[in-house]
Amino acid sequence: MPLRIYNTLSRDKEIFTPITEGHVGMYVCGPTVYSDVHLGNCRTFISFDIIYRYLRYLGYKVRYVRNITDAGHLEGDRDEGDDKFSKIARLQKLEPMEIVQKYTLGFHHVMQLLNNLPPSIEPTATGHISEQIEITRQIIANGYAYEINGTVYFDVEKYNKEQPYGILTNRRMEDLLEGTRELGGQDEKRGRLDFALWIKAKPEHLMQWPSPWGMGFPGWHIECSAMSEKYLGKKFDIHGGGMDLAATHHTNEIAQSQACYHTSPANYWMHTNMLTVNGTRMSKSLGNGFLPEELFTGNHPLLEKAYAPMTVRFFMLQTHYRSTLDFSNEALQASEKGFKRLWDAYEVLKQFTAGENKAANDTELDSKVNKLIGEFDEFMNDDFNTAKVLGSMFELVPVINSMKDGIIKTDAIAATTLALLQLKFKAYLEDVFGLKNEAANNKTLNSVMNLLIEIRKEAKAKRDFVTSDMIRNQLALAGINLKDEKGGEMSWEIN
Ligand code: AMP
Ligand code: ZN
Repeated sequence: MPLRIYNTLSRDKEIFTPITEGHVGMYVCGPTVYSDVHLGNCRTFISFDIIYRYLRYLGYKVRYVRNITDAGHLEGDRDEGDDKFSKIARLQKLEPMEIVQKYTLGFHHVMQLLNNLPPSIEPTATGHISEQIEITRQIIANGYAYEINGTVYFDVEKYNKEQPYGILTNRRMEDLLEGTRELGGQDEKRGRLDFALWIKAKPEHLMQWPSPWGMGFPGWHIECSAMSEKYLGKKFDIHGGGMDLAATHHTNEIAQSQACYHTSPANYWMHTNMLTVNGTRMSKSLGNGFLPEELFTGNHPLLEKAYAPMTVRFFMLQTHYRSTLDFSNEALQASEKGFKRLWDAYEVLKQFTAGENKAANDTELDSKVNKLIGEFDEFMNDDFNTAKVLGSMFELVPVINSMKDGIIKTDAIAATTLALLQLKFKAYLEDVFGLKNEAANNKTLNSVMNLLIEIRKEAKAKRDFVTSDMIRNQLALAGINLKDEKGGEMSWEIN
């Protein structure tokens, strides 16, 4: 079954056909770096990381561009009010670029903890001012934008006469107009839906650049049009972001591209659903956003305990990216248990050695295992359904555990089936889902543990049980469970 992607534009799942065979261009709207990213933002970035990883797993060469929004970003409908970077810079007595640097580094750190792969290109809005000015100039030249007092507006009504402005979210102009306020005397733009491509800066504005229309700064939407075109071309494969971006930001991006290049920028528009807290969207402005750091340390009044980054990642994977996901302690604790159960089975699976058996002794079990393994790709090809893949993996856990306990012999299934099971578990858990055993991946802890295990083995060999017990008991107090295995071997896990 080929990969099918739900396209917001057609409101349907479509067979994925890239523009250039074997290659995929993907643009995802990145974070606005005037504050820390919250867990809701992380959900969107994890979802696109999985999509990126899966496309690579399918053998595509992917150019993944995710920008950093480090300029402009006004309050209200984002054409008005203060520039948030300037506002925060003033409050914290910092340069705006210090704010940008601080939160960009914080963002990268969180992405790394969550094991998201870095994008291929991470362009910044401030690094692409000339490109944004150029597109704006071209849109004016094409007759779809006008300048008033140093600000350039996109003429939505004119554009809509030729192209359906609300195409992405399937809304008509009349309905859109109904939802916006009447223009007042102080408004300079011509149409209620017109939005700014370039904004005149007040003298006290901290970040401003020269342009053909005077000193100013770019509108938010033009930034993504400029950067996606620069690195992926006028038409590319996938454009993504959170669902909240579809109605305005992405709608305006389509209009800008059409007005400038006479083409819609992307073939597939993908939108992730929101992470909610008690049913309300987690957002910067509502102040209900958990910071990843609060989650990893447990340092928040609503958190019953700390949760590891991989627990958080696993929690996200258990729901399809287009469904809402509600945050709760219970759900995270269930994910913690689920992840451990699955990863333990994976560790067990890795230890099995496939025999010589060409045919399965238990053909029914063999075909059940093969069917479940086949479902991994099948469900991912059905619009990246990670939740269903995990369902199939969990059905395989009792089989693996029964093999470990000798209830089922490993030669009950064909050697090729066992090898495939090992291969697919590794490919999915590590490469596609980007999960890892945090303890086993901590190099320092690993070497210290190896040393302690060696000392304990020697102590045991000398029948020095005082030392051997002390090591085990002290580790238990530190939250590490050291287990004696067959043949004098020892294994350990973090409780
Ligand atoms: P921002 O930094 O606010 O521009 O958001 C960065 C990304 O996170 C955008 O793609 C948003 O759509 C997305 N986002 C914001 N809030 C949430 C949420 N509660 N759940 C999922 N994604 C979100
Ligand atoms: Zn964007």
